[in-house]
Order: sequence, then structure tokens, then C-alpha cells
Amino acid sequence: MAKQVLVVGAGIVGASIAWHLAKAGCRVTVIDAGDGGGLATAHSFAWINATWGNPERYFHFRRRSMAGWRRLEQEAPGVSVDWCGGLIWDMPADQLEAYAEEHGRWGYGLRRVGRDEALHIEPNLVSPPGLALHIAEEGMVEPVAAARALLADAVASGALLVAATRIRELLERGGKIAGAVAEDGTILEAEETVVAAGVGTARLLATVGARLRMDTPPGLIMHSTVADRRLLNGMVMAPDLHLRQTREGRLIAGADFAGADPKGRENEMARDLLGKLKAALRGTETLEVDFFTVGHRPTPADGFPAIGRVGGFEGLYVTVLHSGVTLAPIVGELAAREIAEGERDGDLEPYDPGRAELV
Ligand SMILES: Cc1cc2nc3c(=O)[nH]c(=O)nc-3n(C[C@H](O)[C@H](O)[C@H](O)COP(=O)(O)OP(=O)(O)OC[C@H]3O[C@@H](n4cnc5c(N)ncnc54)[C@H](O)[C@@H]3O)c2cc1C
Repeated sequence: MAKQVLVVGAGIVGASIAWHLAKAGCRVTVIDAGDGGGLATAHSFAWINATWGNPERYFHFRRRSMAGWRRLEQEAPGVSVDWCGGLIWDMPADQLEAYAEEHGRWGYGLRRVGRDEALHIEPNLVSPPGLALHIAEEGMVEPVAAARALLADAVASGALLVAATRIRELLERGGKIAGAVAEDGTILEAEETVVAAGVGTARLLATVGARLRMDTPPGLIMHSTVADRRLLNGMVMAPDLHLRQTREGRLIAGADFAGADPKGRENEMARDLLGKLKAALRGTETLEVDFFTVGHRPTPADGFPAIGRVGGFEGLYVTVLHSGVTLAPIVGELAAREIAEGERDGDLEPYDPGRAELV
């Protein structure tokens, strides 16, 4: 008999897990307090990358997930990534060079480009950098649309999506997690319960005494009004200004891709980002701030993903991570395999939720 799995959370991570479980033949229910598409997911910059600052093993994990996005584009109707590439110069030249040397050695498809080539890649830059890196294999995705496409295809494969229903607590029976209880007291029984609840994850785990230390730093992203033409060909990572243009035509900007803590000065920060955008890019004269988002990043205490069994409970699986947009395909694939077949992929070894840093 196919396994009955309850997935709590329908952001990009829960959606990917549900999709992979449904394709593996499990009986899946996905439940979300909202309408599906996620919270952090909806507020994300949504850059798909394996870029600087990561240890080698984590770099390869992220890169494997980038390949996973290409697989999902083939297999899941409606999932589409813009493999637009990224132009990066948001650090001093010596650090940029060290990054290029290291990641180039690891196999990342990056190229050093000078001023003329940078201008060829992004003709609207006002002050193209003397040295930048161009990483053609990076991409961007509209993350809520991708999550919804995965959910729709999971439903087409037999999954049940329950929206607008908040889970109050996990259901423990005899030392095993047997499902969850909704706010209205409805019991949802399952052989396996996956908590993919983003910033709400630690609170849900705590209802059965399981501990996972995580931070939820805020990040502001400014969205401009819709531009009447393409002003950017790809991602631009300039010092203190990360930019991309959405499919809809808005320019979105953060102090970096993860946003910055507005510390109560949201309007000022959004206006400041618009000013920097206008100074950096031609063709932006008539753009205004349309809206901004302040999202909270679900980040395990040591910054790396937490994916796996937790608290010594049978029937309980957790996935909480920053860079969840980049990592959703690999997390979905490997979590579903572990849940459906009991086989834990070796690449998950560093990301055990029970590691010392998180408990
Ligand atoms: C400003 C910002 C910029 C970012 N930039 C990038 C980037 O460029 N690249 C990248 O890879 N990542 C980026 N991230 C991180 C990435 O967006 C997140 O890691 C990812 O979206 C997490 O997805 P998720 O599905 O785990 O969480 P979420 O999208 O938050 O989804 C969790 C879902 O669980 C539901 N939920 C929670 N509690 C309950 C409950 N008790 N009952 C029922 N439902 C519940 C919520 O309603 C929500 O829909 C960024 C994040 C932010 C905030």
C-alpha cells in the first residue's frame, strides 16, 4: 500500500516535496495556512545560484539542485526558469579574483569580463565595472508561480491540497508522529509528516518537544512599477545593489539578494533602493516604487539546510533552509526518496537536523 504522507507548508520547498512524493506514488496531502505558494517564497529575490561564500560540499549540493531545476522544467508542466546568467562585482577586486579562482577550480561556469564585455551583456549599465564575473549558468525563477505549478501537477498526480488551514500541533502517539491537528481540532492522520513550514517550523516541532535552533532575519526587496521594455538581460550583483527584472517587467532590488533589515525604515529604504537603481541603469527615469516586501528567511542556526528526521521520532521529517528557491528541486527529490524508500542520499550527510549546532 502506498505511503500516506502529510506535508505541512506549500511554499517552494513543500511544493517540491509534495510533487516528488506524488510522482513516487505516495498518497500526499499538502496543507497550508495560506493559499499555496509560500511566505518566504513570495518575498524572495529568487536567484538560482551556487555562488561565492559557500564551502565546497555545499557548492556542489547547490549545483546539483541547479541541474534539478532543468529536470523539473522538463517534467513538471508550467515550471520555467530564465537561465539569464549573473553579472557579479559586489566585492573588492582581490576577493572577486579569489572567488573566481576557487569556484572556477570547482567547475563553476564563470568568466572574467572587462568593461566592454560587461556593457555588451548589460547595455543599460551607467557605470560598467572594470572587472566582473559572468556566470552564464545562473538563473531566476518566479517562485510563487513555480510552487503553484508543482502543486497543480502534484494534484494532477493524486495529491490533495488543503489551503487556508493552519496546523496547531503535531500528533504524537506512542513515541511516533501520527499526523497533525488543525487549529479547528481536525485530526489529519499520516504515516509520515513533513514539516516544511518555513519560519513556522521550529514552533511546530516544539509542540512535540523537538528542538531546532533557527533564525528568521528580515530582508526588504523593492519592486518598481512595470517598465515598458527589457532593461536587464540577467541578474546584476553590483556593490550594495542586487537587481533583476521580473517576467512581468518590474525591476526588483535589494541591498543584496537576501535584502537588508529595514529596522523600521521601510519606506526610506525602498526609496533609497529606487534612487540607486536609477543611478545604475539607463531607461529607468519614469519608474517608481510600486511596493516593497519584507520577508523573513527561514535559516537554521549555522546557516546550512536542515533536512531529515528530527527529535528521534518515527514518522517525522523536517526541511528548513535558506536558499530554498535554489535548493527546492534537490530537497524535494532527496526527501521524497528517503521518505518513500528509506534511502538517505550521501549528499544529505552534513544537513542532519540533529547536528550539534541546531539542538
Ligand atoms: C528577502 C529574501 C530573499 C531571498 N533570496 C533568495 C534567493 O535569491 N535565492 C534563494 O535560493 N533563496 C532566497 N531566499 C530564501 C528562500 O526564499 C527561502 O529559503 C524559501 O522560499 C523557503 O521556502 P519554504 O517553502 O521552506 O518556506 P515558505 O515559502 O515560507 O513556505 C512555508 C509555508 O508554510 C506555511 N505554514 C507555516 N506554518 C504553518 C502552519 N502551522 N500550518 C499550516 N501552514 C503553515 C506558510 O503559510 C507557508 O506557505 C530569500 C528569502 C528572502 C526572505
